[in-house]
Amino acid sequence: MTSSPRESVLAALAAGILGEAYDPAVPGRMLEILHRTPGRRDREQLLAVLRALDTRAGALALAGRPAPLSGLAPAEAEAVMRGWAGSRLVPRRRLAAVIGPLALLAAYGWPGPARDATGYPGPLGPAPDVPRRLAPLRPAGDEELACDVVVVGSGAGGGVAAAGLARAGLDVVVLEKGGYRAERDFTHQEGDAYRDLYLYGTTLTTEDLGCRILAGSTLGGGTVVNYSTSFVTPPAVLAEWASISGVEAFVNGEVEAALEAVADRVGVTEAQSRPGARDRLLERGLERLGWHAGPLPRNVRGCPQDAGCGWCGFGCRTGAKQSTLVTYLEEAAAAEARLVVGADARRVLADGGRAAGVEARTDGGHRLVVRARAVVAAAGAIETPALLLRSGLGGQVGHHLRLHPGTATMGVFDEPVRWWEGTLQARYSVRLRDLVGPDGPIFETVPVHPGTAAVALPWRSAADHLDLMKRLANLSLVGVLCRDTGDGGRVLLDRDGSPRVRWRLSPADEARMHAGVVTAAQVLAAAGASEVFTLQHRRPTYRPGDKEALRDWLRTVRRTGFGPGRATLFSYHQMGSCRIGSNPATSAVDPDHQTHELPGLYVADASLFPTASGVNPMLSVMALAHRAANVMAARLG
Ligand SMILES: Cc1cc2nc3c(=O)[nH]c(=O)nc-3n(C[C@H](O)[C@H](O)[C@H](O)COP(=O)(O)OP(=O)(O)OC[C@H]3O[C@@H](n4cnc5c(N)ncnc54)[C@H](O)[C@@H]3O)c2cc1C
Repeated sequence: MTSSPRESVLAALAAGILGEAYDPAVPGRMLEILHRTPGRRDREQLLAVLRALDTRAGALALAGRPAPLSGLAPAEAEAVMRGWAGSRLVPRRRLAAVIGPLALLAAYGWPGPARDATGYPGPLGPAPDVPRRLAPLRPAGDEELACDVVVVGSGAGGGVAAAGLARAGLDVVVLEKGGYRAERDFTHQEGDAYRDLYLYGTTLTTEDLGCRILAGSTLGGGTVVNYSTSFVTPPAVLAEWASISGVEAFVNGEVEAALEAVADRVGVTEAQSRPGARDRLLERGLERLGWHAGPLPRNVRGCPQDAGCGWCGFGCRTGAKQSTLVTYLEEAAAAEARLVVGADARRVLADGGRAAGVEARTDGGHRLVVRARAVVAAAGAIETPALLLRSGLGGQVGHHLRLHPGTATMGVFDEPVRWWEGTLQARYSVRLRDLVGPDGPIFETVPVHPGTAAVALPWRSAADHLDLMKRLANLSLVGVLCRDTGDGGRVLLDRDGSPRVRWRLSPADEARMHAGVVTAAQVLAAAGASEVFTLQHRRPTYRPGDKEALRDWLRTVRRTGFGPGRATLFSYHQMGSCRIGSNPATSAVDPDHQTHELPGLYVADASLFPTASGVNPMLSVMALAHRAANVMAARLG
C-alpha cells in the first residue's frame, strides 16, 4: 500500500525501473533516502515535481502524458524513464539521474526480491558481542562547554589533531556530527550502513549530478569506512605542493617525518594484502600483459584478509583496520579529551577578532556552545569550507576543490568473482603513469555490494539492468582513479547553509580517464573476461577476441565521453577547498594552518591540500593534521 501522491508516483516509476525486481518497500525507502540529500531547496523542488507528476497538467508538461503518473503500468513508466534519460532537456535528464539511482539503491541496498536474485549473501552473520571502548557524550539538552581547543570532525584529520593536542596537555573537545558506532554496531547491512556511517547517506553529488561524492560521517569519519589503502604522498606531489603554496615543510623533511609517524601509528604494512578474487584478476591481467602490479600498503593489524573483509566499507568488525576510532581517538580519550557525537557544528564563534569557539546543533535539536581558545576545522573537504562560509569567512575558502574522479571498466567472467568480498584493496597498478605521464590514473579494485552496483551499472532498460544484476557474482572491475588537475571545483553554500559542490571534469583529465578506461579493458581481456563494458550510460560492450566489435567499442567509448549525462563518476577523495599557502590571494590557510582571515581558527583535514594528492589521500591528511597539532601545541601549550 502506498500512502501519499509522491509515494504513488515513485512506486509507479520504480516499477518501471526495476521490472520484476520491484518490491512494495521501495517507494517508502526512496522517499527516506531523498530526505537525506543536502540542500532543502533541491529536496523541496523534487518533492514538488513528484506532486506535479501526479496531476494531468504536470504529467503532460514533464512526461508528455496527460494522466497522473501514479496510474502508469510498469512498461509505460519504463518508457517515461527512458525518455527522460535520453532527453535533450536538462530538467528531464536530471529527473532520470535522480530517480533512477533512488529506486535502484532502495531495491538492492536491503534484503528483498531484487537483492536475493543477485546471489549476494548479505551480512556474514551478526556483529561481534564485544564492548565499546569509547563513551562519547550526547547532550540531552542545550549545553555550554569550555576547553582549550575544540576540534570539528573526528576523521583522518580531526582524530589525529585531537590526539596530538590532548597528548600535549591541552583540554580538547571533539565535535562529530555522525554517531558513535563500534565493532558491535557494524550490522553490515548495506543500505543501513550508508544511512548510519556515510555523509548525507551517500546522496551528495556535484551540482550537475555528474559525480557522486562519498565520505564517512561517524565517529572516526572516513577512516572507519575507507578501504585501508595507505600511500605516502609521492615526493613529486610534495614538491608541487611546496612550489604552489610556498610552504617549505612539504620539502624540508617535516611533512615526510609526519608521514612516517602516522604510518607507524596506524600500522601501515604491505604484509597484509592477500588478494581476493577481484584483485587476483587485476593482477593476472596485468602480469599477462607484463605491466606493473604492486601490493597495496594498508593500515591494518591482524587483518584476516578473507572473504568477510569486503564488508569493512561498512565498518571493520575485527578492529583490524586502524581507523582513528581504534587509534587516535582512543588516545585522545585516554588523555581526557571529550568526544561529542551527533553534534553538527554550524558556526565558528569569534570574539575580539579571534576564534572563540563553536556553536553546534545536536541531533536532538539542542544548541551546544563550546567556548575555546582555538578552533580546529577538520570536517572534511566539503564540510570544512561550508562551516567557514557559514561563519562569514570568504576569500579563497571553498575554491580549488579537487576530487579524484573514479570510474571503472567492467568484465564478465565465467567463474564467480563475488566482487563484494575479499581484502578491501590489495593490488594496484601505475601502468598508466608510464603511458600518459605522472597525472595518469591508478588502477585499483574496490569491494562492490549490490546497492552500489545497481546505481553504478548503467540503466538502459529494466530487463537489461536486471539481467546484469542477476550476473552480479560474475562481474569484476578495474577501477580507474584519476588525479583531478582542473582548478574549477568549488564548495558554495545553499540557502539553508548546506554545501553545494560545483565541479567539472577538465578536458585533459577526461582524456586521461579515457586512456585509463580503454587500457583497463585490455587488463580485463587479458585476465579472461568474456565480455567487457564501461559504466558510460549507453554501456558500450564488446567480447574480447572480436576485433571489429573492439573497434566499434573504442569509437563509442571515445564519442560518449565521461561528462555529466554521459557517465556517472564516483569520488571517494575530496581535497583542496581550504588550501594551505603563504599567499592569501591563492590560499585560505596560512603555512601554520591558521586561516588567513580569522586568527585562532585552524584547518587540519583534506581541505588543506594545494592540489590533489594523486594517490589515496588518508595518510597525507593524517600527516598534515599531525603537523597542525604540533604547531598549535607549541603555540597554546
Ligand atoms: C568508501 C571510502 C573509501 C575510501 N578508501 C580510502 C583508502 O583506501 N585510502 C585512502 O587513503 N583514502 C580512502 N578514502 C578517503 C579517506 O577516507 C578520506 O580522504 C579521509 O578520511 C579524509 O579525511 P578528513 O579528515 O578530511 O575527513 P573525514 O575523514 O571525512 O572526516 C570528517 C568528519 O567530520 C564530520 N563532520 C562533517 N561536518 C561536520 C560538522 N558540521 N560538525 C561536526 N562534524 C562534522 C564528518 O561526519 C566526518 O566524520 C575513502 C573514502 C571513502 C568514503
